Amino acid sequence: MEHKSELGIILKTFPYQERDRVCVVLTESSGKITALAKGAIHSRRFGGALDTLTCSRLRFIQKPNTEMGRIDEAVVHHEFTRLRTDYDRLALASFAAEFCLRLVEPHAPARDLFVLLSNFLFHLDSDADGFYCTNVFLVKALHVMGYAPNLTSCSRCAVSAHSCAEGDFYWDSDAGGIICASCAPHASKKQLYLGLDAHVLFSECLAKPFKVLVEAKSLSQQTQQNLFAVLTDFLHHQVPGLPAGGFKSLRLVGAQVLGYPTNSL
Ligand SMILES: [Zn+2]
Repeated sequence: MEHKSELGIILKTFPYQERDRVCVVLTESSGKITALAKGAIHSRRFGGALDTLTCSRLRFIQKPNTEMGRIDEAVVHHEFTRLRTDYDRLALASFAAEFCLRLVEPHAPARDLFVLLSNFLFHLDSDADGFYCTNVFLVKALHVMGYAPNLTSCSRCAVSAHSCAEGDFYWDSDAGGIICASCAPHASKKQLYLGLDAHVLFSECLAKPFKVLVEAKSLSQQTQQNLFAVLTDFLHHQVPGLPAGGFKSLRLVGAQVLGYPTNSL
């Protein structure tokens, strides 16, 4: 069986028996893998390369038709050191890791998501606004996983967003897109208000590269909270398999970052 050598981001690890460690890793080319690292607990052969949220070059074996692979070597490629000391940033990074753990199918190639997660962690590890980075990550992650939102026309009457009065739009997660103000009272389920600024930000996050977005002007907390509320609602409606309790990691993010009590997520 041939070894593979790939970059991978450690999403989660846990001890196995006394000396070994099981790692769940989002790799560059092999998707999400689960692999055993023998002797990883007491020996120093892996250093910090198997720490959660570290990007490492891994040498591993994945036999066909087996769930568990084996990591034989791991060398740190990039450590996101700031994340270790900033609690809110670490919680936001943990949310992205939990997103990948829950939503990525094992062994299916997920290169776009690997690149996106790398970009997200890189910017989150800098001076960039962590909440903004998380919104960008969520928009792009939903997009690469095929959950394409309709932002250009009312999902009910198809009136174009450009021909409507400014800002008068709502978000309907069941419809997977925006609903105009005229249709909103007639749609059966509850909609969320989607302000013009949050609507524009949503579209920009889909269209522009991560780096360009993060370097752009700073955004109001209100706009970010509006977009985040829409995105998390969309996530829970559209993605099967999410428990009603939502993401554990989001409850760790300080309420001052998200702007509302995190136990409601
Ligand atoms: Zn309409």
